[in-house]
Amino acid sequence: MYDLLIKNGTIIDGSGSSGFRADILVNAGKIESIGPSLKPECKKELDASGKIVCPGFIDIHSHTDTTILINPKAESKIRQGVTTEIVGNCGMGVAPLPTEYTEEVLNHLTLNTDFGDPGVIGKLWASFSEYIQYLNELPLGINLVPLVGYGTLHTAVMGLKSRPLTQNEFKTLGTLLEKSLEEGAAGLSTGLEYIPDSLCPPEELIRLGQILKRHNKIYASHIRSEAQSLFPAIEEAIHTAEASGCQVEISHLKLGGKFNWGKTDHLFEILEKALSRGVPLSWDQYPYIAWGTGLADYMPDWVKLEGYPSLIKALSEPSSRKKIRQEIETRIKTGNHPYNVAPWEDVQISLLGSPDNKYMEGQKVSEIAQQLDIDPLEFVFDLLVSEKGAVKTVVFCMDETDIKTILKHPLTIIASDGRAGADYGALNTGKTHPRYYGTFPRILGKYVREEKLLSLEMAIKKMTSMPAAMMGLHDRGTLAPNKIADITIFDPETVIDIATYELSRQYPQGIETVIIAGNVVINQGAHTGKMVGQVL
Ligand SMILES: [Zn+2]
Repeated sequence: MYDLLIKNGTIIDGSGSSGFRADILVNAGKIESIGPSLKPECKKELDASGKIVCPGFIDIHSHTDTTILINPKAESKIRQGVTTEIVGNCGMGVAPLPTEYTEEVLNHLTLNTDFGDPGVIGKLWASFSEYIQYLNELPLGINLVPLVGYGTLHTAVMGLKSRPLTQNEFKTLGTLLEKSLEEGAAGLSTGLEYIPDSLCPPEELIRLGQILKRHNKIYASHIRSEAQSLFPAIEEAIHTAEASGCQVEISHLKLGGKFNWGKTDHLFEILEKALSRGVPLSWDQYPYIAWGTGLADYMPDWVKLEGYPSLIKALSEPSSRKKIRQEIETRIKTGNHPYNVAPWEDVQISLLGSPDNKYMEGQKVSEIAQQLDIDPLEFVFDLLVSEKGAVKTVVFCMDETDIKTILKHPLTIIASDGRAGADYGALNTGKTHPRYYGTFPRILGKYVREEKLLSLEMAIKKMTSMPAAMMGLHDRGTLAPNKIADITIFDPETVIDIATYELSRQYPQGIETVIIAGNVVINQGAHTGKMVGQVL
């Protein structure tokens, strides 16, 4: 008696090769066989007539680190067909963090990564092994692969105070990285655009890359600039890969800012030249023209060196507030400020903590400033103060044609860059970025079915075997005998994202069945309550 038979579906196995009609037999969490008209005795049968049966999607760039602690079902991801998430991206993770910084870090994490109070997250982990052990004891609704964040390591070395590290502190950081890798971290991530990661010089990244190379682990880089200094930042990522020999994944590749739109030829010329001389390089992308970030990004770095409290203090004192304003105005004049990438009419407030301000969610900064009859920059200052620094925004700064050109490139991996949310409980708040809820079905519905930009086989490859290969998940990402039975079944005629910038907390359509290691987690679009995810 076998566990599960999936009958009559069209199998797209994740390798990129053409779909074919066959049945899949699953037993003890693995794929037993794939073939036409299998007729063994099975405990359970699923009819997949007219449906696509493919590997569960692997989200190589996710930020579910804190939301998994609040809602371990990871609803908005599993309902997209995602069975594995790579977390700890953009330099931000939750371990290792020594207990002496617990309070300030919890406050920061809670403010900065949305949703709930520190009590919800509750604790931190002094080592990566404690963190993994904690996750392993949690009932998990999805598989997790955690990276260690550079910013997290920096905080572990000196708390939230940001200044360039001394040689000795860099040594400590490298040792902590090495220990975390030995304890199960899948690689390192950076968010080089943000404090404190932005303080790390290129040569230190190469040194860390050498550690990663020794452990055969990946370096996922949110590069130093995605707009004004995009191309030098790409060159830096390439140089890090070339000089250290470690695999560098450029996170959420994009051309930010009008001044960069249309430069995809130049972008791929640089990337392909590096690949042709053997540089270990890869990249991922989310399919939206807006990025999701914090309004504090519009503030100068020097006011954020000690975290949000120092920012609030500076904005509350008239003299420093004036100084900040002058600096921002000067930088705007020279074209060297986030405002030059996205002015206030392109910045939409997405998530606020205080009930009095909630009505602003979903509105543009320029609109609210106009309603309140106040200068936009003064409004931004006031809002940051009243929200203690944590103002989430969705920023429209990319071009749809570029999105498509990047998506079509055969080496582009698809990722959400989103947190798992839910339409109930503590996560049911704000007008968060729709990518949290829609990324993968959007590719299958909008870009494959409606716009015929790429084949279904290619799209699925970009969501399955390609990220699996990059992360060394050799028993996942394709459908074949002996592989782990992480399987997504969807309707190619109806699959589509529903989440919009105005109404983001909406699960997609057409993802019917999601299976993790042979267990049906989503059945006919409903969550079965099965919590069978693991830390991989
Ligand atoms: Zn990022």
